[in-house]
Amino acid sequence: MMKYPGALNSKLPTIGTTIFTIMSQKAQDNQAINLSQGFPDFPVSSDLINMVSKYMKQGYNQYAPMAGVMKLREAIAEKVNNLYSCIYDPESEITITSGATQAIHTAISAVVKEGDEVIVFDPAYDCYVPSIELNGGKPIFAQLNFPDYSINWEEVKKLIKQKTKMIIINSPHNPTGSILSASDLMKLEKITQNTDIVILSDEVYEHIIFENYEHQSVARFPKLAERSFIVSSFGKTYHATGWKLGYCIAPKNLMTEFRKVHQFMVFSANHPFQMALADFNQRAEEYTMLSEFYLQKRDYFRELIKGSRFKVMPCKGTYFQLLGYDTISKESDLKYADLLVTQQKIAAIPVSVFYHKPQDNKVLRFCFAKSNETLEKAAKILCNI
Ligand code: PMP
Ligand code: GLN
Repeated sequence: MMKYPGALNSKLPTIGTTIFTIMSQKAQDNQAINLSQGFPDFPVSSDLINMVSKYMKQGYNQYAPMAGVMKLREAIAEKVNNLYSCIYDPESEITITSGATQAIHTAISAVVKEGDEVIVFDPAYDCYVPSIELNGGKPIFAQLNFPDYSINWEEVKKLIKQKTKMIIINSPHNPTGSILSASDLMKLEKITQNTDIVILSDEVYEHIIFENYEHQSVARFPKLAERSFIVSSFGKTYHATGWKLGYCIAPKNLMTEFRKVHQFMVFSANHPFQMALADFNQRAEEYTMLSEFYLQKRDYFRELIKGSRFKVMPCKGTYFQLLGYDTISKESDLKYADLLVTQQKIAAIPVSVFYHKPQDNKVLRFCFAKSNETLEKAAKILCNI
């Protein structure tokens, strides 16, 4: 194996390989059921696949326009207006990205400078902090309340300083399944008024929200929308996480800066897939039915594990169910997840990895975006523990 002979100071000295890569690999190595990394094990719509294939055959195999295929941007503008009553100009305020991860990194890179502070809620989805740090920013952590993972806005208010450049929110929330209410967003609006703070709102699970809750996009709140980047992902909505396509919407002045970075990060996203998604996005039922589809999965999984010793925690959105195991084992969640995958042959994600100040509540995250057969096999194992 070769080795770089010079002095290399890592830009991310504390970062290793993501937990999703590690756990999926362990699941494979141990031939375990993989409820760790979040991805569906059922197929993408064959109509959508045929549409991609059609556009490939028609020759849409060269670069897409830098900001994305216009008819897809128009379809997004229409959807956002229908759902959240907010008008975005597809020409200047919507950009198609290579997944939400890229959109998040691009938005952070576009506005966060050396020394800027960014408020992040702990536990946080794993890509926020590295993106902040790569840009010389400093993450400032606000703790979500355990066990309901709600936000203490008084605490957030105290963290806001002159240096605060951005606040990152995520609803429905990965890894916890909690959601933000209209009242949360009104509080956010209040504490950011008369500041230059930019909001990055990660809404990749916008179409997976349960019972009678409604997704509270920042787009519904004009005073928030005017200072926000909103990020979403086609991967979640169309069961196609491997396609790595998403988008960002923001007011023109923010989007102008976003595109300056986007054009040199990827230039443009995959062309034939964008063409197909533009057509497929016209079928509103595909996303309006998604919550009901995943509600059934969530409830089926819960029903199956009713007799187990795991503690079922609330899940108001996303396709992740948290299970507490403090009455089963005193091991750390990292160790317990390892025992589960190696000995019981079931992989889950230890929630402590999403915290930046150590916190182990003895909770694991299980992905229920799986066929009923997979869920049944998983539940059988969990019930025998
Ligand atoms: N944000 C959250 C909260 C996520 O859960 C994910 C992926 N699961 C992403 C962003 C990244 O989405 P993508 O796969 O489109 O990059
Ligand atoms: N977002 C997915 C999850 O939470 C995983 C994405 C990834 O593997 N980077 O499981």
